[in-house]
Amino acid sequence: MNRISHWVNNKVLAGTSGKTGKVFNPATGKQESEVELANIADVDAVVAAAKAAFPAWRATNLSRRAEIMFRMRELVDANRKEIASLLTQEHGKVPSDALGEVARGLENIEFACGVPALLKGGYSEQASTGVDVYSIRQPLGVVAGITPFNFPAMVPMWMFANAIMCGNTFVLKPSEKDPSASMFVADLLRQAGLPDGVYNVLHGDKVAVDRLLEHPDVAALSFVGSTPIAKYVYETGTKNGKRVQALGGAKNHMLVLPDADLEMAADAAVSAAYGSAGERCMAVSVVLAVDSVADALVEKIKSRVPNIKVGAGSDPASEMGPLISREHRDKVASYVTNAAKEGAKVVLDGTDKAKDEGFFLNPSLIDHVKPGMKCYDEEIFGPVLTVMRVKSYDEGLKAINDNQFGNGTAIFTRDGGVARQFQYEVNVGMVGVNVPIPVPVSYYSFGGWKASLFGDQHMYGPEGINFFTRGKVVTSRWPDPRTSQVDLGFPQNR
Ligand code: NAD
Repeated sequence: MNRISHWVNNKVLAGTSGKTGKVFNPATGKQESEVELANIADVDAVVAAAKAAFPAWRATNLSRRAEIMFRMRELVDANRKEIASLLTQEHGKVPSDALGEVARGLENIEFACGVPALLKGGYSEQASTGVDVYSIRQPLGVVAGITPFNFPAMVPMWMFANAIMCGNTFVLKPSEKDPSASMFVADLLRQAGLPDGVYNVLHGDKVAVDRLLEHPDVAALSFVGSTPIAKYVYETGTKNGKRVQALGGAKNHMLVLPDADLEMAADAAVSAAYGSAGERCMAVSVVLAVDSVADALVEKIKSRVPNIKVGAGSDPASEMGPLISREHRDKVASYVTNAAKEGAKVVLDGTDKAKDEGFFLNPSLIDHVKPGMKCYDEEIFGPVLTVMRVKSYDEGLKAINDNQFGNGTAIFTRDGGVARQFQYEVNVGMVGVNVPIPVPVSYYSFGGWKASLFGDQHMYGPEGINFFTRGKVVTSRWPDPRTSQVDLGFPQNR
């Protein structure tokens, strides 16, 4: 059995807990590896290595840091297929989707190569007579990233590229369900010339996360995962005096107005709902269809779904792979089974596929859903698209704003004025106008509102730089005996 251990000081480190987790190939349903699950001593050893590496890394000049990240950019680019194939093996996503994940992750490494320009402070000469004031941003120390199963390469790249380039040392606690990509990337960072201890991987479950949350030498935690755990991580980490950004779950609505191009809207809904088997925090899970076009839109979506080729990523024809685990697959299927009992109309039932050895489901389509139904109120995180019918733009907007989540949303319309109004009044962090999955490019920042994000800094981009640094303002005067005097009043600038 392949065994996956921790990564510390640029090499593999066996843990001491004796505990392991199972890593499956979701397409076959078979266990392929076991991953070590850290105990407190393991966490402490990894954090100690990161702490020891911090002073020298912090002192490493910006050009040298950028040079390493540029090399990393080349290495990831050259190894796209290798990383993608690890994603397919352990997560199940099909190669085109896995390659897309690597490409979007790589954007963040490219952004981080330019971090010297982003770390420039401000300077005010002669703020007072003979006095200059300037601001600088400094790293925090040891920072940790805790990541979900659904983007095992991209989400860590959202975090570590900026964290490291800002001068921090980094401990990644990846999902224990698909941990291999983080080990592969760790070795690429070693090849790029990153010094020992700057990027470390700690495998584990709640025990590891809890120790990171209380560890006195961890300055900040960046988390992505489900809402209950995000809330827990945010509350516990901040109580322990740490800086925390915690991104949670989602229920993304796509509002289709009567003037929209319905063919384009149906294509977008199908792509955004069933891509990656719906296991994306930016997946569309609810279509809000205005009554006058609802029947036509549901018909167009329904006609497209049977063309989706569900299968293992090893088959080049497959467009949608399996779900991450048997338990998750069964949970997703239960939403479809319940929906009919709750009064919704199951237009397409994909649960027949649940009999396969691998963790597959076929796509499901549920019409006439309403608030109060489980399939509407909860995040499903699977290949299930629900349709809620609304009378008007206003009713659609209200549904989105009433929802507990606020990660992504999209409006489909030809009316620029209405789209602008939507962007202005919708309470969601990432908005698409005729774009179903509006994941911001790396030079903007990623983050939802409401129960989709705890904390005040979004992930990556400029807010990522802010998150991984703290500001300092220096007020300086060089000795000039002509202006020196005793003055007990509060310093003024005139
Ligand atoms: P998860 O919350 O189960 O796990 C995320 C991380 O937390 C993992 O590293 C896991 O080991 C750890 N963890 C799990 N249970 C814990 C506990 N009780 N205490 C401490 N740590 C714990 O999430 P997941 O199932 O891996 O990922 C899917 C979820 O992530 C979905 O809800 C999805 O919407 C969300 N997600 C959000 C974003 C975003 O940017 N908002 C992006 C991707 C995924």
